[in-house]
Amino acid sequence: MKIHLRCQCGTLRGQVDLGKAYGRAICYCKDCQSYARMLEHERDVLNRRGGTELIATLPASIRFTAGIEQLACLTLTDKGPLRWYAACCQTPIANTPKNPKVAYVGLIRTCLVTQAAALDQSMGPVKIALNTPSARGKVARTPIATFFGMARIFKNILTSRWTGHEQKNPFFVPGSGRPIRQPEPFKSTRNDALKRSA
Ligand SMILES: [Zn+2]
Ligand SMILES: [Zn+2]
Repeated sequence: MKIHLRCQCGTLRGQVDLGKAYGRAICYCKDCQSYARMLEHERDVLNRRGGTELIATLPASIRFTAGIEQLACLTLTDKGPLRWYAACCQTPIANTPKNPKVAYVGLIRTCLVTQAAALDQSMGPVKIALNTPSARGKVARTPIATFFGMARIFKNILTSRWTGHEQKNPFFVPGSGRPIRQPEPFKSTRNDALKRSA
């Protein structure tokens, strides 16, 4: 099933084929919380315990159809993932490893244009909670679901190596290993953009 994705203002648009997705999870880590807060999307992206819902998927399942020039990226730590966002309205879009050979993208759920019920129907409900100790308040750990969920992700990443799917990754320049944008220090433009659109 193909689902549209878009940034809040609609400039950056694309599609994801959920048939190739690995699973859903909610991450409560401090970096995911900072990423939403820094981009001033804390209220729509984070749940009340500070969790970000991610759709783990194959990079080749994502296709941008408009506004790709708005795609920008930042990193919060040396070892952390590339954190992609739409510069036009600072919408968090996805996390990717720095190495494009790892066929993984964690799409931020809020950029998918779909109802929660439709997502539950096509992918099943979210059963995995990651990094629960940094949640705001108590969140139940999900060790068994996490174990099987991670195993499924690793299996998919390995399979993508054999099938050559790792070659197709919209976040990286083909064949070069370089991201299509270099991570840059983040400077907020949200207030200017909101003022312009008012
Ligand atoms: Zn936008
Ligand atoms: Zn996280």
